Parts: sequence; C-alpha cells; structure tokens
Amino acid sequence: MTYSYTQISQYLTCPRRYRHRYLDGWREKDTRAAMLFGRAFEQALAAFFLREDPAAVLFREWTGSQKQDLQYSNGDTWDRMLQQGIQLLDRFCQDDRVRIRQPRRNLQIKFTRRVSKQNDFVAYVDAIGRLDDRRCLLEWKTTSSRYPEEPDGLLALDPQLVCYSWITGIAEVALMVFVRKRLVEVQYLRTAITDEQRQEFGQLVEDTIRRIEAAQILPHSGIRFPQNPCTSCPYVGLCLGKPELVAAALVRRPGAEDLGWLDELTY
Ligand code: SF4
Repeated sequence: MTYSYTQISQYLTCPRRYRHRYLDGWREKDTRAAMLFGRAFEQALAAFFLREDPAAVLFREWTGSQKQDLQYSNGDTWDRMLQQGIQLLDRFCQDDRVRIRQPRRNLQIKFTRRVSKQNDFVAYVDAIGRLDDRRCLLEWKTTSSRYPEEPDGLLALDPQLVCYSWITGIAEVALMVFVRKRLVEVQYLRTAITDEQRQEFGQLVEDTIRRIEAAQILPHSGIRFPQNPCTSCPYVGLCLGKPELVAAALVRRPGAEDLGWLDELTY
C-alpha cells in the first residue's frame, strides 16, 4: 500500500472521511474553481522557471477549465481570477527572489520512503531551490486570504511542510503564498523544521497507518461549531443519508484505495 500526506491528514481530520474516500471510492467532483485555478497557476509557475511564457500557460490551462460547470466562491469569476493570476505572476517575476537550478529535475519532485515492510509513503514536493540565495524546499499555494504570520514561528507547525521536511530530510522550508485579493500579494515565508519534529512526524505516520489497518474508522470530526469540519465536509451527504447532497458534491470510483497517492498531484 502506498500512503500520502493527504491520506494521513484525511484520516486524522475524521476517520469516517477516510473511509468514504479511500475505502468506498467517493471523490469530490472536480468543479471547485479555486482548486482548478491553483493547478493552472502551478503550471504557469513551472513555465516561468523553464523560461517559457507563464501568462500564456496560465491562460491556456485556465481556459481548459472554463468549459466545466465551475463553482466559484467569494464572488470570484473566471475573468477576475485570470486577471489576478497574471498580476501575481508579474509580481513574482519582479520580486525575483526565488531561483531553481535545473528546473526539469527540481520541480514537482517525487520522494518515496518505506514506512514498514508492506507500506511506502510518497510525496510530490513543488520544488527545491533558493529563496533569497538560501537553499530550501519550496512550496506554492494560491489562496484568497493571507497566511497568518502571528504568532511568530507559526509556519513551523504547518503539517504539510513538516511532512515534506521529514520525507526529504531538508530542514529549511519556504512557502510562497499567492494571495488573490483586490491588491494581489505574494508572501515569502520561511522556517526551519527540527529533527525532533521530523522524528515525531514519522511516528505519527506509523501510528496512523496502524490504526487504518486495524479498521478504526469511527466518525469523529472532534470539534464543535463554528470550526466543526462537518459544515464544510464534502461527504456530509453520506453521513446524513441525503442522496441529493451526495449527487451534488461527489462521484464514485470503486477501488480508489489503490490510488490514494495520486492525491499528492491534485491537492
Ligand atoms: S461529515 Fe463530519 S463525520 Fe462525516 S465524514 Fe465529514 S467530518 Fe466526518
């Protein structure tokens, strides 16, 4: 079995969510505009480092999503998101703080780690390069709100960065946050992950896999209103037994448990 960060984090958010997705094969419909825009923007960033035209690539990739019946949030529109994307690419080029040598090798890098006799863990890291001339692991994120910078040091608790530091063994990590708002902004955030954090993450992976393999899948979102994840969970229709909610949000692909690691490419 091959596990990924998304699998582990889905299980830790709510084990029943893990069952719906990985054992029963239910998946969210790919109609969320923000997610598809994020994928198109990643392609545009790759084009920038490969010395191609990033705006042309963004337009091409985002046009490919236009035909689908997209769900927009926060008053977004297709045109507005494209415009924000081009402004963000301009800002990123002007800032000129990130360098990636040999981009064909150092973008979207696959790392695999054996976690037990039968199980591997796989992760796709966005890039390894330099931020302000210091070598680090690089992650991109598009979002409509700023990443919080207070309290100081918060980024070191980001579970996905801890995971990528664990699988690569690289302590220095950086997150480039492309914020789509009225005046666009690129945040360049950097932190270091300690040996202890990497060790603990390895233990968390092993422990979580043990619980998954012991079929401990009782539902527990764990947190009450207003942070209760059930309120934004795509699987809420299944848990409430409401077929109309299921039909609106999900499609079923049986046998998905063998392909869980592909989540790394889509989230
Ligand atoms: S709706 Fe709530 S209980 Fe059901 S899978 Fe989602 S988070 Fe878990």
